[in-house]
Amino acid sequence: MKFATKAIHAGVEPEPHTGAVMTPIFQTSTYAQEAPGVHKGYEYSRTHNPTRTALQKNLAALENAQFAYVFSSGLAATDTLLRTFQPNDEILVTDDLYGGTYRLFVRVIQNFGLKFNFVPMTDANGIEKHITPQTKLIWIETPTNPMMSVIDIEAVAKIAKKHKIMLAVDNTFASPYLQNPLDLGADVVMHSATKYLGGHSDVVMGVLAMNDASLAEKIAFLQNAVGAVSAPMDCFLMLRGIKTLHVRMQRHCENGRKIAHFLRNHPKVEKVFWVGLEDHPNHEIAKKQMRDFGGMVSFILKGDDLEEAKRVMSSFKIFTLAESLGGVESLCTHPATMTHASIPKEQREKAGLKDTLIRLSVGIEDADDLIGDLKQAIG
Ligand SMILES: *Cc1c(COP(=O)(O)O)cnc(C)c1O
Repeated sequence: MKFATKAIHAGVEPEPHTGAVMTPIFQTSTYAQEAPGVHKGYEYSRTHNPTRTALQKNLAALENAQFAYVFSSGLAATDTLLRTFQPNDEILVTDDLYGGTYRLFVRVIQNFGLKFNFVPMTDANGIEKHITPQTKLIWIETPTNPMMSVIDIEAVAKIAKKHKIMLAVDNTFASPYLQNPLDLGADVVMHSATKYLGGHSDVVMGVLAMNDASLAEKIAFLQNAVGAVSAPMDCFLMLRGIKTLHVRMQRHCENGRKIAHFLRNHPKVEKVFWVGLEDHPNHEIAKKQMRDFGGMVSFILKGDDLEEAKRVMSSFKIFTLAESLGGVESLCTHPATMTHASIPKEQREKAGLKDTLIRLSVGIEDADDLIGDLKQAIG
C-alpha cells in the first residue's frame, strides 16, 4: 500500500459488533474476563486499549516499522526509550536539539548515571572520533529547530552499525510523509505526534517505532510498567488527524516553498532557512533523504534589532504567536525569547541563532493571505 492509503486504512478495521467504520473510543479502564485469566486480549487499559492498538498499527505502517508504541507526550516516548539503558552507558547526541529533549537528558536522566555527549553531526564524518566502548546510543534530530540543519541519516546509520550502536531519530519536523528513518538504517524513530501527525494542535502525544522484536518487547514492557500511556480519546483524535496527513503535508510543503521564496526576495530579510532552498548548506542531503521540504521556515531580519523583531511578531494578523508547530494554522515563535531563552545569548549566536530570528510553522491556509500577512507585518 502507498502512503495515502496507509494513512487512512492501516490498523483500522470496522468494529466487529456494530460495523462502526471509525474506530470507537474505548473509554474503559478494564475488561470483563470469562474466567480468571480468560479474556479477549484486553485486561487493563494501561497495558492495552483497542483504540490505542488501532493507532499503533497505523503508525507502524506509516514508518514502515513492525512495531509502534504511543505515549502521553513526545518526551514520555523519549524517556521510555532511555530507560532501556544502564548507568555508565554513553549517549552521543546532536548538539542542535529540541530544548525539552536537552532538559530531559541533562537535568533528569543524567542523574541516573547515563552519560551524554553533545557533538555537531551535520558532518557525519566527525562523529566517529567521539565513540567509545561505552557508547550505546546515537540520538539525532533532523531537520533541527530552529536552524533547519539536516543530518545525513544514512551516513550516521552506517557508523552506528559498524560500532553496533543503536541509532534513534527524532522525526518530528519531517513527519513520516517526508522521511522514513528506518528505511535509511536507523533503529528507532521517535515522534512528537503533537505536531504534524496530529496536525490540529489538540493532542499531546509521543511515538516510538522500530523493527527489532527484542527492542519492541522491552518498549512494550516499559510502556505498561512505567505507564506514560495515551488516553483512548487522544488515540481517536490522533487517528482522525492522521487520515489527512498526506494532504496536509502537501499543502505545508507548497506554502513553505512560496513563503521561503517570498522572504528570500524581501529587502528587510537577511537570511532564510528552509531546507528546500538550493543554497541551504545541507540541501543536497535533504534532497537525498526527504521527499519534499516541509513547512518549517526560519528567517533573520536585517539590522540585528531585537525591538524590530518583537514589533514584527506582534503585528501578525494570521500567524499566531505561540510555541509548537505542525498544525493546520500558521504559527510564529521567537526562539531567542521563547524556546531558547534559557541558552545564553553568546552560545545562541555561536549556533547562528540571532535575536532577530523568527521561526514560522507555515500552516495550510491560502498562501496569498499568509504572504500578505508577512508583507504588512515586516513592512
Ligand atoms: C515538541 C517536540 C518534542 C517534544 O514532544 P512533546 O509532545 O511536546 O513532549 C520533541 N522533539 C521535537 C523536535 C519537538 O518539536
